[in-house]
Amino acid sequence: MTKTLFTNIGSLVMPAAEVGVLETLSNAAFVVEDGLVTWVGQADAAPSCDSFVDVAGKCVIPGFVDSHAHLMFAGSREQEFEARMAGVAYSAGGIKTTVAKTRAASDQELRDNAQKLISEFYQSGVTHFEIKSGYGLDVETEVRSLKIAREFTEDTTFLGAHVVPAEQDPDAYVELVSTTMLDAVQPYAKWIDVFCDRGAFTLAQTRKVLEAGIAQGLLPRLHANQLENLGAIALAVELDCASVDHCTHLSDKDIEMLASSNTVATLLPGAEFSTRSDYPDAKKLFAAGVAVALATDCNPGSSFTTSMPFCIAVAVRDMGFTIDQAVWSATRGGALALRDSSRGTLSVGSRADFAILDAPNHLFLAYRPGVQLVTSTYVAGKKVYGR
Ligand SMILES: [Zn+2]
Repeated sequence: MTKTLFTNIGSLVMPAAEVGVLETLSNAAFVVEDGLVTWVGQADAAPSCDSFVDVAGKCVIPGFVDSHAHLMFAGSREQEFEARMAGVAYSAGGIKTTVAKTRAASDQELRDNAQKLISEFYQSGVTHFEIKSGYGLDVETEVRSLKIAREFTEDTTFLGAHVVPAEQDPDAYVELVSTTMLDAVQPYAKWIDVFCDRGAFTLAQTRKVLEAGIAQGLLPRLHANQLENLGAIALAVELDCASVDHCTHLSDKDIEMLASSNTVATLLPGAEFSTRSDYPDAKKLFAAGVAVALATDCNPGSSFTTSMPFCIAVAVRDMGFTIDQAVWSATRGGALALRDSSRGTLSVGSRADFAILDAPNHLFLAYRPGVQLVTSTYVAGKKVYGR
């Protein structure tokens, strides 16, 4: 088995188990063997290896874990964005435009679009990601979407309950999602998700879909409280959702419930940025001890970004995160939101998923917004991007 030493690391960032806390090691090195980290320490104490990579004093961070991404779609909606920036209010209905294009797209078009976005993920330092369906909204296209998503990640999410398709009665559609559609996608989905919000699904409909998914062995997660608070946090906690995503509108009681649960609050700065909406207050969540994740919410309607560094910069600038908290949330927090303990940090036994930054430390991620700081990205010890 080949042992590779990554050495001369100016600052090695190791997100701790404690929420929001980063440990850093200067003059560091680590050893990668068979895709895993097998040793971490001071460079001058490193064991002998078969090969080595000199990082030249740069900062190394664990790869970002994007726990919320909608990559199965076709087309784009830049005119809708332009109109919104000119003052038209955001509503969930624009999804229907993408649904029509996704249904009409071939498997290869869907695969190529996802592959392009995944290449962008690697360029931004994202090494692992979830992929949702939810732009098919019929049995055939939801199955196609999840089958293709499975080619790229084990974390595939069935989001048949994204919106009610134009031609259908809401309750009849919820019945379809919970029975025939669920049966058909089950072999290709790990997670089940519902958009519980104004213009999407009610709390009762959300419960019905999630419970049907759980009965089929899928694990629950939720889009909720983006536009309004329909009381979804209590449901998410009751059903042990791995994560409830958006969380823009939370009551104090919601925050208390999240703090005493295993449900992560995933914040999506790109969504508020791209819809010019009020940001949630991360300070309150961290003060209460809630585990927080940051994700891109990459989708063609309300957050068309694959850049986790951009999300970190916005989270720090506008959502009350410290830089350490933001980096923690984009790495260990994201892994927690996928109930995955093998990712999101760099310690002995963790996967060798990491990014090298052209910066002396991780503070530059927020301090230099919009700048391409990631020079190379590795998944399981193999370079997937960079020079
Ligand atoms: Zn989303």
